[in-house]
Amino acid sequence: MKVLRKILSLFRRSGDSKKQDNGKTSKALNNSRKKGGGKFDSRRGKGKPYGVKCPSAGAKERSGKSGETPGRGGNSKGGKNPASKGNSLKRSKPKKTVLQIPPEADLISKTAEFASLGLKPCVLAAVEKQGYNSPTEIQKLAIPIILEGADVVGTAQTGTGKTAAFALPVIQKLFLDVPYEQPKPSSPRVLVLSPTRELAAQTAQAFEKFSEFTPIETLLIQGGVSMNPQIDALESGVDVVVATPGRLLDHIRQRNINLKFVRYLVLDEVDRMFDMGFIEDVSNIIRYCSAERQTLFFSATMPEAVMKLSRWALKNPKNAGVGIAHSPADTIEHYVYPVDAIQKYDLLLALLKTLDFSSTIIFTRTRRDADRIAEWIEANNACTCSVLHSDKTQRERDSALKAFKEGKVKVLVATDIASRGLDISNITYVINYNVPEQPEDYVHRIGRTGRANAEGRAITLFSSDEASFLDKIESFIGRPIERRTLDGFAYRSDPMFDARKAASTHRKRRNH
Ligand code: AMP
Repeated sequence: MKVLRKILSLFRRSGDSKKQDNGKTSKALNNSRKKGGGKFDSRRGKGKPYGVKCPSAGAKERSGKSGETPGRGGNSKGGKNPASKGNSLKRSKPKKTVLQIPPEADLISKTAEFASLGLKPCVLAAVEKQGYNSPTEIQKLAIPIILEGADVVGTAQTGTGKTAAFALPVIQKLFLDVPYEQPKPSSPRVLVLSPTRELAAQTAQAFEKFSEFTPIETLLIQGGVSMNPQIDALESGVDVVVATPGRLLDHIRQRNINLKFVRYLVLDEVDRMFDMGFIEDVSNIIRYCSAERQTLFFSATMPEAVMKLSRWALKNPKNAGVGIAHSPADTIEHYVYPVDAIQKYDLLLALLKTLDFSSTIIFTRTRRDADRIAEWIEANNACTCSVLHSDKTQRERDSALKAFKEGKVKVLVATDIASRGLDISNITYVINYNVPEQPEDYVHRIGRTGRANAEGRAITLFSSDEASFLDKIESFIGRPIERRTLDGFAYRSDPMFDARKAASTHRKRRNH
């Protein structure tokens, strides 16, 4: 028996050295194997290095020459990359089409401000393709810090270009810092955690867009859908995993994924993850990641609990705060419409019939309200609408969002699940059917409109029993919100008078 074991161990060692002789097993990969990756029971065995052309693609970029960027298996001609011999041994999956990087001089002149932050053609090409002219504040602050390798605590208002602020440098580092290699099965090198499935889906799409000129592949792992395709995709090897915490933990427990190779960990919308009760899950997930990682931490607000997590999870982080988490973007006009609670439905209908809009999100406090309001709107033929809340199946959530994004329905009625991070362009109005109880939610909800410096409008329906919430919002954003009435609407009582009365009663109560 002993002899048999010895023979086996010799055989294994000779296999490893053959791989190194091949010259394509990077230092990082070997290091990470030492760090416990070997314990992981991957059902598909070890990953294979990329074809011969891949490392030279990185070298080409570093040497400043533009040209083709081979993808899986490498192909020096044109943008497409047919399977290499090595890759054909893997379970067949559609090969990623890697786009060709345009000539460097031209690219740099078009994206000069981004290039000055340290970004290279492999991602500048994506920036140019997206039509971004200049970096946003959070991008200017965060990109150089991430490129230099430091941990980051970023605070940025929603809709400020935060996703590109972390995705662009992470993609570049993954592609250029070490000669790029095919990911090992089930062992991503980038992990992004997002609070909601919708936000995770959007972030995964952003990674795909920004890595179109590299072979980097992204996988979305979210709950509410079958685990099997996710397991298959993990096994075939992906570079970036964007996940919601609950489903990711399921995969970890079933040993479908190994986080020991994660070199870049992004925790996005951390305060929201706290609000949603995910923080224990998030802390557990962080413990599964390699200690040798760069951690990027983004939160719109920094309550003490969030600060505590950042102190524990990050090493000597640098701040990239744009310090405006307390206020909605300047480009958003927002008003309060006081009304009797009993007339809210009617005022909402009247507003929908009067306002000139192509798309509107109506936020409600409860899931039941969302369902009822959608039924009410459709029953009164005000307009077409879809509903988004956590009681809906993932399929329903996806199709609601898709119909809204594609303009097939004009109104999306949603709970706060849609208040964070969702990037839907050209939203004309955000309507709060209830005054949000948390001032931060007000800022996030109305942040759905006016994204990326576009103009937006937000309306909050306010009944006198909500005075304390409105008061909190106004002190949070540091100014009063203009009250308005709808001309021609049959108010049961003087709405402005009621609003003033409610505010003064509330103030008196607070002073006692
Ligand atoms: P985010 O805050 O990441 O959800 O981004 C909000 C929107 O801003 C998205 O539609 C991005 O594509 C867009 N965006 C991000 N960076 C820029 C930029 N530098 N210039 C113009 N738009 C941008």
